[in-house]
Amino acid sequence: MPPLGIYVQVPFCQTKCTYCNFHTGVVSSSRFAPYIDAVCREIREHVEMYGGAGVAVSQAVSALTVDSVYIGGGTPSLLDPAHIANLLGAMRETFAISAPEVTLEADPETVEAEKASAWFAAGVNRVSFGLQSFVDKELAASGRMHRRADIDRAVPILRAAGICNISFDLIAGLPHQTAASWRQSLDELANLQPEHVSIYLLEIDEGSRLGLEVLQGGSRYSARDIPSEDDMATFYEAAQEHLQAAGYHHYEISNWAQPGYESRHNLKYWRREPYLGFGAGAHSFAGGNRWANAHDAAEYVKAIEDSRLPIEQHDILSAESALEEELFLGLRQLDGIDVSKIEREYSVQLASRFDPLAKLGWLERSGNVVRLAPRKLSVSNEVFVELMR
Ligand code: SF4
Repeated sequence: MPPLGIYVQVPFCQTKCTYCNFHTGVVSSSRFAPYIDAVCREIREHVEMYGGAGVAVSQAVSALTVDSVYIGGGTPSLLDPAHIANLLGAMRETFAISAPEVTLEADPETVEAEKASAWFAAGVNRVSFGLQSFVDKELAASGRMHRRADIDRAVPILRAAGICNISFDLIAGLPHQTAASWRQSLDELANLQPEHVSIYLLEIDEGSRLGLEVLQGGSRYSARDIPSEDDMATFYEAAQEHLQAAGYHHYEISNWAQPGYESRHNLKYWRREPYLGFGAGAHSFAGGNRWANAHDAAEYVKAIEDSRLPIEQHDILSAESALEEELFLGLRQLDGIDVSKIEREYSVQLASRFDPLAKLGWLERSGNVVRLAPRKLSVSNEVFVELMR
Protein backbone atom coordinates (compact mmCIF):
# COMPACT_ATOMS: atom_id res chain seq x y z
CA MET A 1 0.00 0.00 0.00
CA PRO A 2 1.19 3.56 -0.61
CA PRO A 3 2.18 5.68 2.40
CA LEU A 4 -0.55 7.13 4.61
CA GLY A 5 -1.75 10.74 4.81
CA ILE A 6 -3.12 12.35 7.96
CA TYR A 7 -5.61 15.19 7.95
CA VAL A 8 -6.57 17.24 11.02
CA GLN A 9 -9.62 19.49 10.89
CA VAL A 10 -9.58 22.72 12.92
CA PRO A 11 -13.12 24.09 12.53
CA PHE A 12 -12.58 27.58 13.97
CA CYS A 13 -12.42 30.94 12.20
CA GLN A 14 -12.20 34.59 13.19
CA THR A 15 -15.27 35.54 11.17
CA LYS A 16 -17.45 33.76 8.66
CA CYS A 17 -16.63 34.61 5.05
CA THR A 18 -19.79 35.40 3.09
CA TYR A 19 -19.21 32.63 0.50
CA CYS A 20 -18.22 29.94 3.04
CA ASN A 21 -20.31 26.76 3.12
CA PHE A 22 -17.95 24.79 5.40
CA HIS A 23 -18.82 23.51 8.87
CA THR A 24 -16.71 26.06 10.70
CA GLY A 25 -17.58 28.40 13.52
CA VAL A 26 -16.49 31.55 15.27
CA VAL A 27 -15.97 30.53 18.91
CA SER A 28 -14.19 31.75 21.99
CA SER A 29 -10.47 30.90 21.98
CA SER A 30 -11.08 29.14 25.32
CA ARG A 31 -12.50 26.27 23.27
CA PHE A 32 -9.29 25.70 21.32
CA ALA A 33 -7.34 23.79 24.01
CA PRO A 34 -10.09 21.24 24.87
CA TYR A 35 -10.59 20.66 21.15
CA ILE A 36 -6.89 20.04 20.50
CA ASP A 37 -6.72 17.74 23.54
CA ALA A 38 -9.60 15.73 22.07
CA VAL A 39 -7.93 15.49 18.64
CA CYS A 40 -4.63 14.39 20.24
CA ARG A 41 -6.54 11.71 22.14
CA GLU A 42 -8.32 10.56 18.97
CA ILE A 43 -4.94 10.30 17.23
CA ARG A 44 -3.37 8.29 20.06
CA GLU A 45 -6.34 5.97 20.64
CA HIS A 46 -7.78 5.65 17.13
CA VAL A 47 -6.83 1.99 16.65
CA GLU A 48 -8.73 0.87 19.78
CA MET A 49 -11.61 3.25 18.97
CA TYR A 50 -11.98 1.99 15.39
CA GLY A 51 -11.90 -1.63 16.56
CA GLY A 52 -14.61 -0.95 19.14
CA ALA A 53 -16.83 0.79 16.57
CA GLY A 54 -16.45 -1.91 13.92
CA VAL A 55 -14.81 0.29 11.31
CA ALA A 56 -13.35 -2.26 8.98
CA VAL A 57 -9.94 -0.73 8.76
CA SER A 58 -7.12 -2.97 9.80
CA GLN A 59 -4.28 -2.07 12.10
CA ALA A 60 -2.17 -2.46 8.97
CA VAL A 61 -3.38 0.96 7.76
CA SER A 62 -2.31 2.64 10.98
CA ALA A 63 1.03 0.87 10.70
CA LEU A 64 1.74 2.44 7.30
CA THR A 65 4.45 5.06 7.13
CA VAL A 66 3.02 8.57 7.06
CA ASP A 67 4.46 10.90 4.42
CA SER A 68 1.96 13.77 4.52
CA VAL A 69 0.14 15.71 7.21
CA TYR A 70 -2.39 18.43 6.49
CA ILE A 71 -3.75 20.65 9.25
CA GLY A 72 -6.69 22.40 7.65
CA GLY A 73 -9.87 24.18 8.53
CA GLY A 74 -11.16 26.61 9.34
CA THR A 75 -8.18 28.69 10.24
CA PRO A 76 -5.62 26.55 12.10
CA SER A 77 -3.15 29.46 12.14
CA LEU A 78 -5.42 31.01 14.80
CA LEU A 79 -4.28 28.37 17.28
CA ASP A 80 -1.48 28.82 19.73
CA PRO A 81 1.65 27.34 18.06
CA ALA A 82 1.91 24.98 21.07
CA HIS A 83 -1.36 23.41 19.88
CA ILE A 84 0.19 22.68 16.49
CA ALA A 85 3.24 21.20 18.22
CA ASN A 86 0.96 19.03 20.39
CA LEU A 87 -0.88 17.69 17.35
CA LEU A 88 2.33 16.84 15.54
CA GLY A 89 3.76 15.34 18.75
CA ALA A 90 0.73 13.04 19.11
CA MET A 91 1.21 11.93 15.50
CA ARG A 92 4.90 11.19 16.07
CA GLU A 93 4.07 9.08 19.13
CA THR A 94 1.44 7.11 17.20
CA PHE A 95 2.65 6.72 13.62
CA ALA A 96 5.88 6.03 11.80
CA ILE A 97 6.47 9.32 10.00
CA SER A 98 9.13 9.69 7.35
CA ALA A 99 10.22 12.88 5.55
CA PRO A 100 6.68 14.23 5.59
CA GLU A 101 5.13 17.15 3.80
CA VAL A 102 3.46 18.99 6.72
CA THR A 103 0.98 21.65 5.62
CA LEU A 104 -0.71 24.24 7.79
CA GLU A 105 -3.58 26.31 6.42
CA ALA A 106 -3.21 29.95 7.37
CA ASP A 107 -4.76 33.34 6.87
CA PRO A 108 -2.16 36.03 6.11
CA GLU A 109 -3.19 38.42 8.89
CA THR A 110 -2.51 35.71 11.52
CA VAL A 111 1.15 35.31 10.53
CA GLU A 112 3.80 36.72 12.88
CA ALA A 113 7.53 36.02 12.93
CA GLU A 114 7.48 34.29 16.31
CA LYS A 115 4.53 32.11 15.34
CA ALA A 116 6.10 31.17 12.01
CA SER A 117 9.35 30.11 13.73
CA ALA A 118 7.37 28.02 16.22
CA TRP A 119 5.43 26.35 13.38
CA PHE A 120 8.68 25.49 11.62
CA ALA A 121 10.24 24.18 14.84
CA ALA A 122 7.15 21.99 15.36
CA GLY A 123 7.66 20.44 11.90
CA VAL A 124 5.47 22.53 9.58
CA ASN A 125 7.23 22.86 6.21
CA ARG A 126 4.37 24.05 3.97
CA VAL A 127 1.77 26.78 4.43
CA SER A 128 -1.38 27.03 2.37
CA PHE A 129 -2.82 30.54 2.34
CA GLY A 130 -6.50 31.21 1.79
CA LEU A 131 -5.87 34.47 -0.06
CA GLN A 132 -8.81 34.39 -2.48
CA SER A 133 -7.89 37.77 -4.02
CA PHE A 134 -5.28 40.54 -3.92
CA VAL A 135 -7.95 43.24 -4.34
CA ASP A 136 -9.08 44.88 -1.10
CA LYS A 137 -12.58 45.68 -2.37
CA GLU A 138 -13.19 42.00 -3.18
CA LEU A 139 -11.69 40.85 0.14
CA ALA A 140 -13.85 43.27 2.12
CA ALA A 141 -17.03 42.31 0.25
CA SER A 142 -16.30 38.63 0.93
CA GLY A 143 -15.87 39.14 4.67
CA ARG A 144 -12.16 38.27 4.66
CA MET A 145 -10.07 39.68 7.49
CA HIS A 146 -6.85 40.21 5.52
CA ARG A 147 -5.95 42.80 2.92
CA ARG A 148 -3.39 42.82 0.16
CA ALA A 149 -0.74 44.40 2.44
CA ASP A 150 -1.06 41.44 4.84
CA ILE A 151 -0.14 39.04 2.05
CA ASP A 152 2.97 41.05 1.13
CA ARG A 153 3.96 41.08 4.80
CA ALA A 154 3.27 37.37 5.55
CA VAL A 155 5.15 35.68 2.72
CA PRO A 156 8.66 36.97 3.61
CA ILE A 157 8.02 36.17 7.29
CA LEU A 158 7.36 32.53 6.41
CA ARG A 159 10.38 32.27 4.14
CA ALA A 160 12.62 33.86 6.80
CA ALA A 161 11.31 31.29 9.32
CA GLY A 162 12.37 28.45 7.00
CA ILE A 163 8.94 27.60 5.53
CA CYS A 164 9.76 27.64 1.84
CA ASN A 165 6.84 25.74 0.35
CA ILE A 166 3.91 28.14 0.09
CA SER A 167 0.58 27.67 -1.61
CA PHE A 168 -1.94 30.37 -2.52
CA ASP A 169 -5.68 29.85 -3.00
CA LEU A 170 -7.61 32.25 -5.24
CA ILE A 171 -11.34 32.29 -5.98
CA ALA A 172 -12.65 33.22 -9.42
CA GLY A 173 -16.08 34.77 -9.13
CA LEU A 174 -15.96 36.93 -5.99
CA PRO A 175 -18.30 39.95 -5.87
CA HIS A 176 -16.87 42.97 -7.72
CA GLN A 177 -14.30 40.88 -9.58
CA THR A 178 -13.62 42.02 -13.14
CA ALA A 179 -11.28 40.82 -15.87
CA ALA A 180 -8.89 43.64 -14.89
CA SER A 181 -9.00 42.94 -11.14
CA TRP A 182 -8.55 39.20 -11.77
CA ARG A 183 -5.49 39.96 -13.87
CA GLN A 184 -4.18 42.14 -11.03
CA SER A 185 -4.52 39.20 -8.60
CA LEU A 186 -2.76 36.87 -11.03
CA ASP A 187 0.05 39.40 -11.59
CA GLU A 188 0.59 39.92 -7.88
CA LEU A 189 0.50 36.21 -7.27
CA ALA A 190 3.18 35.64 -9.91
CA ASN A 191 5.35 38.38 -8.35
CA LEU A 192 5.38 36.55 -5.02
CA GLN A 193 6.23 33.21 -6.69
CA PRO A 194 4.43 30.75 -4.43
CA GLU A 195 5.46 27.16 -5.03
CA HIS A 196 1.84 26.08 -5.48
CA VAL A 197 -1.44 27.65 -6.55
CA SER A 198 -5.07 26.51 -6.22
CA ILE A 199 -7.83 28.28 -8.11
CA TYR A 200 -11.47 27.58 -7.34
CA LEU A 201 -14.63 28.86 -8.97
CA LEU A 202 -17.07 30.46 -6.55
CA GLU A 203 -19.64 27.92 -5.39
CA ILE A 204 -23.17 29.19 -5.07
CA ASP A 205 -25.49 27.21 -2.82
CA GLU A 206 -27.75 27.72 0.15
CA GLY A 207 -24.92 26.76 2.51
CA SER A 208 -23.44 30.29 2.50
CA ARG A 209 -24.89 33.75 3.15
CA LEU A 210 -23.76 34.91 -0.28
CA GLY A 211 -25.26 31.84 -1.94
CA LEU A 212 -28.57 32.39 -0.14
CA GLU A 213 -28.62 35.98 -1.32
CA VAL A 214 -28.07 34.85 -4.91
CA LEU A 215 -30.93 32.36 -4.61
CA GLN A 216 -33.36 34.44 -2.55
CA GLY A 217 -32.43 38.04 -3.31
CA GLY A 218 -31.05 40.86 -1.17
CA SER A 219 -28.20 43.33 -1.30
CA ARG A 220 -26.19 42.83 1.88
CA TYR A 221 -23.48 40.54 0.47
CA SER A 222 -23.07 42.04 -3.01
CA ALA A 223 -24.65 39.04 -4.73
CA ARG A 224 -25.58 41.30 -7.66
CA ASP A 225 -21.89 42.02 -8.20
CA ILE A 226 -20.89 38.40 -8.75
CA PRO A 227 -19.45 37.85 -12.23
CA SER A 228 -21.43 35.66 -14.61
CA GLU A 229 -20.62 31.96 -15.05
CA ASP A 230 -19.16 32.76 -18.46
CA ASP A 231 -16.93 35.39 -16.88
CA MET A 232 -15.78 32.88 -14.25
CA ALA A 233 -14.89 30.39 -16.98
CA THR A 234 -12.95 33.16 -18.77
CA PHE A 235 -11.12 34.01 -15.53
CA TYR A 236 -10.17 30.35 -15.12
CA GLU A 237 -8.83 30.24 -18.67
CA ALA A 238 -6.87 33.46 -18.08
CA ALA A 239 -5.34 31.81 -15.00
CA GLN A 240 -4.34 28.77 -17.05
CA GLU A 241 -2.46 30.98 -19.52
CA HIS A 242 -0.97 33.22 -16.89
CA LEU A 243 0.29 30.43 -14.67
CA GLN A 244 1.70 28.46 -17.54
CA ALA A 245 3.61 31.55 -18.69
CA ALA A 246 4.90 31.96 -15.11
CA GLY A 247 6.33 28.41 -15.15
CA TYR A 248 3.61 26.52 -13.26
CA HIS A 249 2.62 22.97 -14.15
CA HIS A 250 -1.16 22.44 -14.27
CA TYR A 251 -1.59 19.01 -12.69
CA GLU A 252 -5.17 18.93 -11.41
CA ILE A 253 -8.28 20.86 -12.47
CA SER A 254 -7.85 23.41 -9.66
CA ASN A 255 -4.13 23.08 -8.94
CA TRP A 256 -0.82 24.29 -10.38
CA ALA A 257 2.71 23.81 -9.03
CA GLN A 258 6.27 24.73 -9.72
CA PRO A 259 8.14 21.53 -10.72
CA GLY A 260 8.33 19.13 -7.76
CA TYR A 261 5.89 21.09 -5.57
CA GLU A 262 2.66 19.25 -6.37
CA SER A 263 0.69 18.74 -3.15
CA ARG A 264 1.67 15.30 -1.96
CA HIS A 265 -1.25 15.23 0.45
CA ASN A 266 -3.97 16.26 -1.99
CA LEU A 267 -2.68 13.84 -4.61
CA LYS A 268 -3.68 11.08 -2.20
CA TYR A 269 -7.32 12.17 -2.48
CA TRP A 270 -7.33 12.06 -6.27
CA ARG A 271 -5.32 8.81 -6.42
CA ARG A 272 -7.53 7.13 -3.80
CA GLU A 273 -4.60 6.46 -1.52
CA PRO A 274 -5.25 5.93 2.21
CA TYR A 275 -5.64 8.82 4.64
CA LEU A 276 -6.95 9.14 8.16
CA GLY A 277 -8.80 12.27 9.27
CA PHE A 278 -8.96 13.43 12.87
CA GLY A 279 -11.14 16.14 14.38
CA ALA A 280 -14.71 17.31 13.87
CA GLY A 281 -16.03 16.57 10.40
CA ALA A 282 -12.74 14.99 9.27
CA HIS A 283 -13.03 12.33 6.56
CA SER A 284 -11.00 9.13 6.23
CA PHE A 285 -10.47 6.63 3.45
CA ALA A 286 -8.79 3.25 3.73
CA GLY A 287 -9.37 -0.29 2.57
CA GLY A 288 -12.53 0.50 0.56
CA ASN A 289 -14.10 2.28 3.56
CA ARG A 290 -14.98 5.95 3.83
CA TRP A 291 -16.00 7.43 7.14
CA ALA A 292 -16.48 10.85 8.67
CA ASN A 293 -16.54 12.29 12.18
CA ALA A 294 -19.38 14.36 13.63
CA HIS A 295 -19.29 17.89 12.21
CA ASP A 296 -20.28 19.66 15.39
CA ALA A 297 -17.10 20.49 17.33
CA ALA A 298 -18.80 20.36 20.75
CA GLU A 299 -20.40 17.00 19.94
CA TYR A 300 -17.04 15.73 18.73
CA VAL A 301 -15.21 16.79 21.92
CA LYS A 302 -17.96 15.26 24.08
CA ALA A 303 -17.72 11.94 22.24
CA ILE A 304 -13.95 11.77 22.74
CA GLU A 305 -14.24 12.78 26.40
CA ASP A 306 -16.80 9.99 26.86
CA SER A 307 -14.42 7.54 25.11
CA ARG A 308 -16.86 7.15 22.22
CA LEU A 309 -15.71 7.11 18.60
CA PRO A 310 -17.08 10.35 17.02
CA ILE A 311 -17.88 8.76 13.65
CA GLU A 312 -21.27 9.79 12.26
CA GLN A 313 -21.03 8.26 8.80
CA HIS A 314 -19.41 5.07 7.54
CA ASP A 315 -19.69 3.64 4.02
CA ILE A 316 -18.22 0.49 2.59
CA LEU A 317 -17.87 1.26 -1.10
CA SER A 318 -19.50 -1.02 -3.64
CA ALA A 319 -17.44 -1.95 -6.71
CA GLU A 320 -19.60 0.42 -8.80
CA SER A 321 -19.05 3.34 -6.39
CA ALA A 322 -15.32 2.65 -6.28
CA LEU A 323 -15.20 2.61 -10.11
CA GLU A 324 -17.07 5.92 -10.30
CA GLU A 325 -14.58 7.43 -7.87
CA GLU A 326 -11.69 6.15 -9.99
CA LEU A 327 -13.13 7.91 -13.04
CA PHE A 328 -14.25 11.11 -11.36
CA LEU A 329 -11.12 11.61 -9.26
CA GLY A 330 -8.76 10.27 -11.93
CA LEU A 331 -10.03 12.62 -14.61
CA ARG A 332 -9.50 15.61 -12.31
CA GLN A 333 -5.78 15.00 -12.85
CA LEU A 334 -4.42 16.36 -16.10
CA ASP A 335 -2.33 13.23 -16.64
CA GLY A 336 -5.65 11.42 -17.07
CA ILE A 337 -6.45 7.81 -16.25
CA ASP A 338 -4.98 4.52 -17.37
CA VAL A 339 -8.03 2.85 -18.90
CA SER A 340 -6.51 -0.64 -19.22
CA LYS A 341 -5.50 -0.66 -15.58
CA ILE A 342 -8.98 0.32 -14.41
CA GLU A 343 -10.65 -2.15 -16.79
CA ARG A 344 -8.45 -4.93 -15.38
CA GLU A 345 -9.00 -3.98 -11.75
CA TYR A 346 -12.77 -3.67 -12.03
CA SER A 347 -13.40 -6.28 -14.76
CA VAL A 348 -15.29 -3.76 -16.92
CA GLN A 349 -15.15 -2.32 -20.42
CA LEU A 350 -15.20 1.46 -20.43
CA ALA A 351 -15.47 2.17 -24.17
CA SER A 352 -19.26 2.60 -24.01
CA ARG A 353 -18.82 5.31 -21.35
CA PHE A 354 -15.93 7.13 -22.98
CA ASP A 355 -16.65 6.92 -26.70
CA PRO A 356 -19.75 9.19 -26.82
CA LEU A 357 -17.92 11.87 -24.82
CA ALA A 358 -14.80 11.51 -26.97
CA LYS A 359 -17.01 12.04 -30.06
CA LEU A 360 -18.32 15.26 -28.51
CA GLY A 361 -14.72 16.35 -27.97
CA TRP A 362 -15.13 16.38 -24.18
CA LEU A 363 -12.58 13.63 -23.54
CA GLU A 364 -9.34 12.85 -25.34
CA ARG A 365 -7.88 9.38 -25.74
CA SER A 366 -4.27 8.60 -26.49
CA GLY A 367 -3.42 4.91 -26.29
CA ASN A 368 -4.48 3.69 -22.87
CA VAL A 369 -4.81 7.15 -21.40
CA VAL A 370 -8.06 9.14 -21.28
CA ARG A 371 -8.10 12.74 -20.10
CA LEU A 372 -10.44 15.72 -20.05
CA ALA A 373 -10.24 17.87 -23.17
CA PRO A 374 -8.51 21.16 -22.26
CA ARG A 375 -11.59 23.22 -23.21
CA LYS A 376 -13.70 21.26 -20.70
CA LEU A 377 -11.46 21.85 -17.68
CA SER A 378 -13.40 24.96 -16.64
CA VAL A 379 -16.74 23.13 -16.88
CA SER A 380 -15.66 19.65 -15.83
CA ASN A 381 -18.85 18.96 -13.87
CA GLU A 382 -20.78 18.80 -17.15
CA VAL A 383 -18.48 16.01 -18.30
CA PHE A 384 -18.67 14.12 -15.00
CA VAL A 385 -22.47 14.23 -14.96
CA GLU A 386 -22.59 12.71 -18.46
CA LEU A 387 -19.93 10.15 -17.61
CA MET A 388 -21.82 8.89 -14.55
CA ARG A 389 -25.18 8.51 -16.33
S1 SF4 B 1 -11.58 31.28 6.56
FE1 SF4 B 1 -12.17 29.57 5.25
S2 SF4 B 1 -13.28 28.15 6.58
FE2 SF4 B 1 -13.17 30.13 7.65
S3 SF4 B 1 -15.07 31.16 7.15
FE3 SF4 B 1 -13.55 31.84 5.65
S4 SF4 B 1 -13.75 30.40 3.91
FE4 SF4 B 1 -14.82 29.49 5.68
